[in-house]
Amino acid sequence: MVTRIAVAGGGIAGLSAALLLARQGYEIVLVERDGPPPERLDGVQNWHRPGAPQIRHPHMFLGLFRHLLRTRLPDVQADLLTHGIDLAGTGCRRATIEWALHRAVWAQDAVRIHHGVSAREVVVDAGRVRGLRIDGGVIEVDAVVDATGRYSPLADACAGEVEESPSGIVSYSRLYRLRNGVPQPAPFPDPIIFAGGMGFGGGLYTHDNRTFTVLFARLPEDDLLGRLREDGAFEAATRAVPQFEPWLRDGSAEPVGSVVSMAGFSNTWRELPPSAPVGYLPIGDVLCTTYPIMGRGTSLALAGAARLSELMADGNVELEAVGAGMRAHARDDVRPWYDDAVHEDAERTRSWRATVGARADGPESPGAHRADGELSLVVLVALAGRHDPRLGELAQRRINLLVHPDSLDTPEVHERLRAVLAGERRTPLLSPEPTYQELTRALAAHRIG
Ligand SMILES: Cc1cc2nc3c(=O)[nH]c(=O)nc-3n(C[C@H](O)[C@H](O)[C@H](O)COP(=O)(O)OP(=O)(O)OC[C@H]3O[C@@H](n4cnc5c(N)ncnc54)[C@H](O)[C@@H]3O)c2cc1C
Repeated sequence: MVTRIAVAGGGIAGLSAALLLARQGYEIVLVERDGPPPERLDGVQNWHRPGAPQIRHPHMFLGLFRHLLRTRLPDVQADLLTHGIDLAGTGCRRATIEWALHRAVWAQDAVRIHHGVSAREVVVDAGRVRGLRIDGGVIEVDAVVDATGRYSPLADACAGEVEESPSGIVSYSRLYRLRNGVPQPAPFPDPIIFAGGMGFGGGLYTHDNRTFTVLFARLPEDDLLGRLREDGAFEAATRAVPQFEPWLRDGSAEPVGSVVSMAGFSNTWRELPPSAPVGYLPIGDVLCTTYPIMGRGTSLALAGAARLSELMADGNVELEAVGAGMRAHARDDVRPWYDDAVHEDAERTRSWRATVGARADGPESPGAHRADGELSLVVLVALAGRHDPRLGELAQRRINLLVHPDSLDTPEVHERLRAVLAGERRTPLLSPEPTYQELTRALAAHRIG
């Protein structure tokens, strides 16, 4: 009988697995190598988190994440609400979510959480998990939930090979806070996101407590946009984007810290073979990472924790059956999003390269306005949603991971898309603002200044 479980890693996956399993009667020991969050929410921005450096980058919380939080961890959602944070849209800092999960864990008697402790190795005997090795000893347990993230120190010995595909994106982001008295501009709490065929991507992500992040993304080889890493050049670029104006006009917001960059990100997929030790249960980024701009990671992490707790709902569960169930979950619910991310990355890279490559043709080159045909199906359907609400709804369900990635490839969608494209529209679906040329001009002007 399974009674004691170690959870290695206290990010979104580990904290939610610990909570859900403890509430089903299991005794949980959670080890997290970073320190705990501050008690008060207003200190969360300075929480030192080297184990999850992505915490400083903007996070969206998609429909799947919000659905699972509402249905599986309603107390965490309620706690966020009492702090004025409504995840009805997507807006919240990532650190804030972890802070709220920690509060729930601290209140849970069946979870013992040890901060500043590193998991080293899963102790296996005769093909079954017997313990988790940490510095200075072994915690004896029946199962180990590996939630240590993409660089898991446990997975190499327990799981299969890693498949990897570079996402082909470099991003720059900066956190801001609206000054006191400035009203929250629309479309709070929804983000503003542009990608598609513009040669670059970007967005404005709204968070809790009047904070928001502006992000730009470029091709790795695009040196012209590399200057976005400088605070001054980044500010110049923000002024070239009309959609950002209501948030940044006349100093209505102040930056919190400098520009943060991210490069070299890869989509990763780790196979969980049937030969894995019985009781070794990887979830979250250990299994799969997908390119960050679509914001899928926390949803897939929470989905893994939720599935694991469903499989372990019966106290007399066989760990062999749980392992098989988690393999099926990985194959059916997670892998399709990995494949989709690899496909979307390739499509986006091709489309951005076509635009950036056209820049030599002059300021009004065709590259400034890529044809709709350059866009991937999901981007096209999302844009066509402005003309056909049914397409908008279908695109939103898919973007929010509430349906299978193939859900848009249906006769109904293609029919509606054809109707929109053949309709009365005089402009292309994608009318980039700013164009690639306008953005690079803004950066060049800053250089001169
Ligand atoms: C730049 C960027 C932007 C992103 N944006 C979004 C977004 O908008 N929306 C979204 O949903 N997702 C986003 N993601 C993905 C998201 O951050 C991850 O998918 C999510 O954090 C996965 O959670 P996790 O708990 O599996 O892993 P992590 O959050 O990486 O947590 C792993 C934890 O394990 C700990 N740990 C590591 N090793 C050990 C050890 N040996 N012993 C003990 N503890 C250990 C770490 O300190 C950490 O706390 C983004 C990722 C990046 C890189």
